[in-house]
Amino acid sequence: MSNNTYNTFTDINTLGEFGLIKALTSDIDHCQPSTLLGVGDDAAVIRHEGEVSVVSTDMLVEGIHFDLMYTPLKHLGYKSIVVNLSDIYAMNAMPTQVTVSIAISSKYSVEAMKELYEGIYTACRMYKVDLVGGDTTSSPKGMIISVTAIGHAREADIVTRKGAKPGDIICVTGDLGASYLGLQILEREKQVYLAHPGVQPELEKSQYLIERQLKPEAQSGAIEYFRKAGIRPTSMIDISDGLASEVMHLCSQSGTGAYIEEGKVPIHPDAERTALEFNLDPITCALHGGEDYELLFTIDERDLEKVRYMPDVFIIGEMTDASDGIQLHTTGGNIHPITAQGWNHFREN
Ligand code: ADP
Ligand code: MG
Repeated sequence: MSNNTYNTFTDINTLGEFGLIKALTSDIDHCQPSTLLGVGDDAAVIRHEGEVSVVSTDMLVEGIHFDLMYTPLKHLGYKSIVVNLSDIYAMNAMPTQVTVSIAISSKYSVEAMKELYEGIYTACRMYKVDLVGGDTTSSPKGMIISVTAIGHAREADIVTRKGAKPGDIICVTGDLGASYLGLQILEREKQVYLAHPGVQPELEKSQYLIERQLKPEAQSGAIEYFRKAGIRPTSMIDISDGLASEVMHLCSQSGTGAYIEEGKVPIHPDAERTALEFNLDPITCALHGGEDYELLFTIDERDLEKVRYMPDVFIIGEMTDASDGIQLHTTGGNIHPITAQGWNHFREN
């Protein structure tokens, strides 16, 4: 279990706000030609010629969105960037810059903040985005991280939640439910650790699930593939809250219904096994778990052939008339309405 303790503890007050900003941002290299000016002035300057800008912000609050008992700061930094980039990709746009704002209490050292920024910079390198600004302030308790991601696209390429129509095919870029189950394992091991501090947690056999929770990836490959293959999804959203909730967003904004085939929803074997261990239905975890950061998108049925060659894509259902509602076709041959939350048990046994 990571307690996020470090060998040295340099009080942030020894550096002060400006010293800390310098310590965290002095080595920045830009990789995007659109970054004209980054950290160090009153504002960053970004150029997007002839294209539209796409902007998205997320805030992460300690104790609500993350628990530092089992979240290494490096992973937290990485994830805070990735979840924002995921929103930019979900618009069928390419992210180019991010800003990072932090509020921290005095319990965090300079070393801890550098650890957080190591994860932030690793994600920036991985996804080829520049860190161009932010804000630093103190918090009475705990840590708050707010990231804004900026991207660009040709106006004609932008995909919203709105454009799906009956007959469109519903696709997802990867397996679902694993991140939620990773969180259940971390929470369980945390309780064991709190009760018996000497006991080392057993996390090896759950490595895949824990990685999906602590170090998710955004689906840049899918957007690159769309460009190459000449595909423009009719609607798209990233899966942060669970498949059920995201399908409902696409349907309500597009004015359609949908059906999802239970047997087509990709679930990793480790997720399947662990769900059963926790007495949960794997499909329920996929529908309501969240934080998978896969892309859910719809395509015109005429594009079906193009999507078939896409690596890691799963066709899981179809858009229907709004009057048909949103349905799950179970492997047992039954039809159940999909609802926003609620741990409905769909199985017939
Ligand atoms: P201002 O007083 O104009 O808000 P700051 O002193 O807060 O300026 O910030 C100075 C520069 O450092 C700005 O370019 C700002 O974007 C950047 N910056 C501040 N905090 C952070 C941070 N936590 N991460 C990255 N850049 C930061
Ligand atoms: Mg400021």
